[in-house]
Amino acid sequence: MKLILLGAPGAGKGTVAKMLTALDGSVQISTGDILRGAVQAGTDLGKEAKGYMDRGDLVPDSLIMGIMEGRLQEDDCKKGFLLDGFPRTIPQAEALTELLKKLGIKLDMAVDIDVPRDVILDRLCTRRTCENGACQAIYNVKSNPPKKEGICDKCGSPVVQRADETEEAISHRLETYNQKTAPLIGFYKKAGLVKTVTGTSSDAVVAAIKGSLGL
Ligand code: AMP
Repeated sequence: MKLILLGAPGAGKGTVAKMLTALDGSVQISTGDILRGAVQAGTDLGKEAKGYMDRGDLVPDSLIMGIMEGRLQEDDCKKGFLLDGFPRTIPQAEALTELLKKLGIKLDMAVDIDVPRDVILDRLCTRRTCENGACQAIYNVKSNPPKKEGICDKCGSPVVQRADETEEAISHRLETYNQKTAPLIGFYKKAGLVKTVTGTSSDAVVAAIKGSLGL
């Protein structure tokens, strides 16, 4: 499957993407994970992106498109991909349309995961992430804590609160989403690609996507 997952930070895009990869071997491509990996590795990309990310601002479109042009041409994308956190602006969506045309790839759907704001705020404030850039497993202090407090079940690295998951950065990220990313729903509606799924359970979101794709 070739999907774009739209939805505010905390809507569950990453969880849904991971569940979908198990269905047909499509890969999850999360620009946030790629950028956090680059920050941790101290690459030029990471150094350039860090300030924007810590403030909850978007990284410039040119940096993101540089990442995605290469990433979408890697071999593992041939079976399909789930774009998680990309595109985030109209210029990124326009550049993606051009890139996919050039590569001869057709999208199946843009899924708008619509979750109430209070649920999102609660999820983001209680979310914790493995700080190992190669792992980045997600936990939640209330609903899914690691077995040993503060330690990742998968790789044993510290589990931390992301710098952009303080209350201040979260409300800025949500504002940025409403201003810059929510207009993508209209953009993909015009292309006849949007499927809106309202719900707070990732299982229900995945079931709705499977239904739409006839899986
Ligand atoms: P995420 O994990 O998707 O919430 O992304 C974390 C942060 O990475 C965002 O707040 C942005 O600073 C940056 N980021 C991730 N994806 C993009 C994108 N497509 N465009 C611009 N910035 C991005």
